[in-house]
Amino acid sequence: MADAHRLVVIGGDAAGMSAAAQARRLRPAAELEIVVLEQDGEVSYSACGIPYWVGGQVGGRHELIARTPAEFAAREITVQTGTRVVGIDLDAGHVVAGGGARFGYDHLVVGTGGRPSRPPIPGLDAPGVFGVHRLDDGAAVRAAIDAGARRGLVLGGGYIGLEMAEALQRRGLEVTVVLADPLPMQLLDADMGERVCAGMRGMGMAVHTDQAVREVLLDAAGRACGVRTDEGSYDADLVVLGLGMGPEVTLAAEAGLALGTTGAIDVDHSQRCRDHPEVFAAGDCAQTFSRITGEAAHVALGTHANKQGRVAGSVIGGRPARFPGVLGTALTKVGDLEIARTGLCTTQAEEAGFGYRAETIEATTRAGYFPGAEDMAVKLISERGSGRLLGAQVVGGPGSGKRIDVLATAIWAGMTAEDLAGSDLSYAPPFSPVYDPVAVAARAVSRTEQG
Ligand SMILES: Cc1cc2nc3c(=O)[nH]c(=O)nc-3n(C[C@H](O)[C@H](O)[C@H](O)COP(=O)(O)OP(=O)(O)OC[C@H]3O[C@@H](n4cnc5c(N)ncnc54)[C@H](O)[C@@H]3O)c2cc1C
Repeated sequence: MADAHRLVVIGGDAAGMSAAAQARRLRPAAELEIVVLEQDGEVSYSACGIPYWVGGQVGGRHELIARTPAEFAAREITVQTGTRVVGIDLDAGHVVAGGGARFGYDHLVVGTGGRPSRPPIPGLDAPGVFGVHRLDDGAAVRAAIDAGARRGLVLGGGYIGLEMAEALQRRGLEVTVVLADPLPMQLLDADMGERVCAGMRGMGMAVHTDQAVREVLLDAAGRACGVRTDEGSYDADLVVLGLGMGPEVTLAAEAGLALGTTGAIDVDHSQRCRDHPEVFAAGDCAQTFSRITGEAAHVALGTHANKQGRVAGSVIGGRPARFPGVLGTALTKVGDLEIARTGLCTTQAEEAGFGYRAETIEATTRAGYFPGAEDMAVKLISERGSGRLLGAQVVGGPGSGKRIDVLATAIWAGMTAEDLAGSDLSYAPPFSPVYDPVAVAARAVSRTEQG
């Protein structure tokens, strides 16, 4: 072990543990010692599962943990939980943990994750206001529900807000959603966002749009009891925050690692920090890029964190690897309404300077006569002239959302709408109409191109 190099990983979730696991696959412990430093008590957990745990669909906290420190130890990866890194000395090549312990490294992976947005709204720190980021947050919301909360108020209409709104409703709470934007799911075009808003109202949720929250209202005991906007006040027994996720870069910035235009850590396509090739960053703390425009992007999703961590681990393990960029593919649901998007929405296409065509079609998830057929809408955006697909959005009943993967694959492969319309997609009545809604949308948008 004396001559082994050492990889230190800061942060033991998707990005950090993927990097550690991949580096270990490629290099044995005799060549590479791997130490993961995690501030909390758990590693390798699924924040993505928190809304379903709160909503009661997932039985327990332990089910959201993919691997324990003991399981990593069996693979000769040392995990030190309860160890918060407070400094990185890039010149000396070591990190410093709270309490002063130093860990020298030959390679460093920064996987510190995201930081939930917390605008300076009076009362936001009061008891009864819950962020949703770590498993402890999920436990706290569950405890508040178990203690008798009857009215839940969600701030924000992004995917975390929607998933938490569903979770609270499942647990029997009256649900109010308040958002500053004109519609939920801002990365959808307005015609698709309206479907989401209407769907939520149809489920009995009160949705108040275009209303920035000015204050969290407190009861005599100083506990949150509602929020005030310019247009009104809304009562609640608990307030859940879903106001977006930025990168957690405090350590990196203090150490002098360069940040990109998005505010996340600037890395090359191998997840290396540009001025410090021995340092890698991956996941929610790292900047990435759009595969369509090449522009810098920050997309805080587990799917990217895992892949970026794996890229970093591969390179550290001696196998060249590149992260290929993102389309911005995302999928969520609120109640039975599935919502998915990929690529550019029309605003993004316009900002990127594309002339585009867009068509929205209505269809059903199965043959119209087949039991369980649900309405769904598909919007497709293609480049004017070339017909190349730029973006897609899907909103509809059960069975509609995952169709986004076909659309993402088509965009990834550079297909035109016409290519997709004619491609060999499957059909059987329990699964789709004879022309799948994806093909119908592709034909609709390619027809506009042909005039
Ligand atoms: C409610 C919710 C639902 C989600 N649903 C989805 C989904 O459906 N699909 C999807 O793709 N993504 C989803 N995500 C996003 C996904 O969870 C994140 O993108 C992913 O966890 C990012 O992984 P990461 O390793 O970069 O960061 P994190 O998971 O944030 O992990 C970072 C780790 O670093 C540790 N850390 C930070 N600073 C220090 C320090 N100084 N010292 C030591 N340790 C430190 C933290 O404690 C943390 O454990 C969801 C997120 C939330 C909150």
